[in-house]
Parts: sequence; C-alpha cells; structure tokens
Amino acid sequence: MIKEKYSLDVVIPCYNEEETIPHTIPRLNDFLTGFTQHEDIGMASFRLILVDDGSKDSTWDIINDFSKHMSVLGIKLSRNYGHQNAMLAGLSNSVGDVVLTIDADLQDDLNAITDMLKAFQTGAELALGVRSSRGNDTGFKRNSASSYYKLMKVFGVNIIENHADFRLMSRKSLTALLAHEEINLFLRGIIPTIGFPTSIIYYERQDREYGETKYTLKKMLGLAINGLTSFSVTPLRLATALGLGFSAAAFIAAFWVIFVKVFYFGHAVPGWASTVLPVLFLGGIQLLCLGIIGEYIGKIYLEVKRRPRFIIEKII
Ligand code: UDP
Ligand code: MG
Repeated sequence: MIKEKYSLDVVIPCYNEEETIPHTIPRLNDFLTGFTQHEDIGMASFRLILVDDGSKDSTWDIINDFSKHMSVLGIKLSRNYGHQNAMLAGLSNSVGDVVLTIDADLQDDLNAITDMLKAFQTGAELALGVRSSRGNDTGFKRNSASSYYKLMKVFGVNIIENHADFRLMSRKSLTALLAHEEINLFLRGIIPTIGFPTSIIYYERQDREYGETKYTLKKMLGLAINGLTSFSVTPLRLATALGLGFSAAAFIAAFWVIFVKVFYFGHAVPGWASTVLPVLFLGGIQLLCLGIIGEYIGKIYLEVKRRPRFIIEKII
C-alpha cells in the first residue's frame, strides 16, 4: 500500500538557538524539497513549524525572517515552557497528514527521515528514531541514561530505550497522542502506549555543531522524575513496603527488648546508639516516603488545576 500526495509538518522546538537555526532551517528545507520531487516518497508539500520556547536571544527574529520567504510557521510561546510543551504546542498547530518532530540542532540523522517516510508509506502509523549507540555522549550522560532506562524497567514503565523525540507520526497517531490531556506530558512514555503499527528506525546521533545543549541538569532531572511518576505507582508501593518492613522490624525489636529485660535482668545496657540510631533511621525513611507521596500529590495538584500546558503569544 503506497500512500500518495501527503503533506508533512516538521515540528522543531527552539530555545536560545540563534546559533543553530540559521543552519538548520535551510538544511531541512533543501533536504525536504528534494522529497517533493521524488516520485517514490509521495510527499506533496511540507512546512516547518518552529516553536520559540521563550528564547532570550534573537531566535524569534530569525524565525520571523525565514517565515517571509520559506514555508515556515513560527509559534512564539509566552515564556519558557520546556522542550516537551514546546513540542506539544507545535503538534497542536500541525495540520499535515504526517508530522515529524526533530531537535533544532539537527543532531539526529536526516537520512533517517527517508526511512521514516518509507515506513509510513508502507503502513506504519508511527516511526521512532532510536540511537544505535551513545558513543558521542559524555560518560555521565551515557551512564545516567542507561541507569534511568533500567530503573524505568524495574518500575514497570514501558519506554523504548534510546528513543528521544525524533519521530514521525501519522495524523491518526497524532490525534491519539493529543487526546492525552495530562499537564505533565512525557511524550516518549505515551508513544508506546498508543499502539498502532510502529516501526523503529536506527540511526547514529551526531554531535551538536552550533551552540550548547539547552538541557540543563535540572531540566534533565525534572524530565526523569516526571517520566517515572507519570507512568508508575511502584515508588508509592515501595514506600508502603518500606513502612511495613520497618514496623515489622520494630515489633521484633520490642520483643527482643522484653526478652533481654526478663531473662538477663540487670544486664540490659541503656545504650545511646540503640535509641538514637533507629530514631534517625526511621525518621529518614519516613521523610523519604513522605517525599515520594508528596511527588505524586504535587502531580495531582498540577493536574486538577488544568492550567494550559503552554500559552502562545504569536503565530506567524
Ligand atoms: N529546548 C526547548 N526548551 C527548553 C530546552 C530545550 O525547546 O527548555 C529544545 C532545544 O532548543 C532543542 C531541543 O529542545 O531543539 C533539545 O535540546 P538540546 O539539543 O539542547 O538537548 P540535548 O540534545 O543536549 O539533549
Ligand atoms: Mg541536542
């Protein structure tokens, strides 16, 4: 089954990317123009949707300039809402038959787009870009990412390892994705739950050519915690299990104390350590459990308020 004459939207979130997008936009434009003349690919037209996620540099002016002579839709968010929400703003404004999401730095291999479009033509509703190696990441990022994927697996969350946000979605899967109205949307966690015929496209990720990473450690941690608590209640159960375990231990200790008191009368030393250490330890465990529960309550709090996930200032 070959689908013909479809239109493609490419959503690109940009946060302080003035150094990158003057290269990115023409490169993508040239690459995709090639497709429109390519019979096999069957793409009739394309449009770049650039979302300015509250940049403080001249990103918006650059987008504005390009929109005057290229097929570029610019969306300016009222402030920085983060990568996931910026992407969502672009996706919500897409009208294409197929939509692709890609980072502004073009670290993701453009040739993988060809494979994604081919997968779509042969029936895939989702085509996910997966990095075949993490060779060019820093040791820290590589290790933390791999431990994170392991942790997610332990907690029963089904996410696709090394798939970030480089993906192609058909209109059908996009509609399914947009039906998820949660405020803390963790896109790469939702995607595998959508179902539909999915194809995995492997590619090598390049180094960032211009500018620096916009993902600070704080943003990365936020995304990681959000991903975990959005998809798993196992940490809450862990808190319960810890609580149960320590109450049981406390009971046993109580019996032991009585035993010592009764059978070794006079030998029970009123120790400092045996009093203070359990108090500290149990205090720590309680705070940990409260923290875990608090994390979820915070999430409920944000969800019930139903605040908008992004606010658009301008569209050009
Ligand atoms: N980004 C964004 N909002 C943010 C942080 C990042 O829209 O608050 C965008 C950024 O412009 C880029 C993409 O998200 O297009 C990925 O960021 P980056 O390349 O810096 O992350 P890395 O590849 O280092 O993980
Ligand atoms: Mg990048």
